[in-house]
Amino acid sequence: MASFIPYGRQSVTEDDINAVVEVLKSDFLTQGPVVPAFEQAVAQRSAARHAVAANSATGALHIACMALGVGPGDRVWTSPLTFVASSNAALYCAASVDFVDVDAKTYNMCPLRLAEKLDQAALDNTLPKVIIPVHLTGQSCDMAAIHAAADKHGVRIIEDASHAIGGSYGSEPVGNCKYSDIAVFSFHPVKIVTTGEGGMALTNEPDLAERMRLDRSHGITRDPAVLEQPEEGAWYYEQQRLGFNYRMADINAALGLSQLDRLTDFIKRRVEIAAAYDAAFTNMPVTTPWQHPEAASSWHLYVIQVDPNKHRAVFEHLRAAEIGVNLHYMPVYLQPYYRKMGFRPGLCPNAEAYYSRAISLPMFPNLTQEQQQVVIGEVAKAIAQ
Ligand SMILES: *Cc1c(COP(=O)(O)O)cnc(C)c1O
Repeated sequence: MASFIPYGRQSVTEDDINAVVEVLKSDFLTQGPVVPAFEQAVAQRSAARHAVAANSATGALHIACMALGVGPGDRVWTSPLTFVASSNAALYCAASVDFVDVDAKTYNMCPLRLAEKLDQAALDNTLPKVIIPVHLTGQSCDMAAIHAAADKHGVRIIEDASHAIGGSYGSEPVGNCKYSDIAVFSFHPVKIVTTGEGGMALTNEPDLAERMRLDRSHGITRDPAVLEQPEEGAWYYEQQRLGFNYRMADINAALGLSQLDRLTDFIKRRVEIAAAYDAAFTNMPVTTPWQHPEAASSWHLYVIQVDPNKHRAVFEHLRAAEIGVNLHYMPVYLQPYYRKMGFRPGLCPNAEAYYSRAISLPMFPNLTQEQQQVVIGEVAKAIAQ
């Protein structure tokens, strides 16, 4: 019996459902105690001092850019191999964006390419204010090298760790901001831990956390310590910045908090699935995901590369076989919206080569061994054609 196997899928238990129901029966559906509890749990798990929940990683990336002062005339650089949100966040701030090519083995922002591009930009007086490296597939970028390159020029760093909660770098958890100013997680259902929709920004700097808290809720504060005008009564609050409503609801946070209990199990299962794919593909003309020695991936995605001449046929064979393969991602600058800004093919050769070869295979904790064997068998058939 053939049935559709998606590339990613949430795992929701009775405990998760009960946690959400409890909030529904409580006094606060939003702005209650569960969001701060979830923030604290994620901060602790990630070894970061502060965590600011948002209604999406996209919102979190936007307030992260705002907190670092990104504005009109500023430049932000990111990886071409990412979801459009990493780059759009800079555009929301009226900054301009550019892309740093990826390393051919990790598919993450290449530290050497970054260092060269920054040195050139310093000469041209066109340095970016912020760079946004992306931990593609859940494998951390080489953050020590990226940090060294950026720090030389006083450039700030936001890690787009949307794929990477539960991963580590240099045996420390992704999100600890050792080599960055802010790190952002996504809790969309295809990601490692879900809140339905949701995201979080982590930082070790209290000022950045405070600014992000303001900006996720209209730029409004009631904190007597920071009021700019005299308090006029118990009703009084101040809007001090132009913020947004990017708040996470307690209903969503309850799901996330309950899911977080299983993060270790989720990663363990994903590691097993990756190992089984690796083993199955050793004798096939398939490039399996190379792993950087400093990084332990959360395995959000398992991406293979195939002969570019067969890529489309292999992809279509798998889709026809009811396997929900996907491609993460077409280089962002090849999107029509970005081409209209003047971006053209050829900008990032490694990213474009990846795009001509990459296929994301099904990877999620509840993928059964039988389903995985079906996927492997169909890949073998597709490649042999
Ligand atoms: C999913 C994702 C986002 C956006 O996350 P949302 O929570 O859906 O806003 C941003 N960047 C990357 C790399 C992602 O994979």
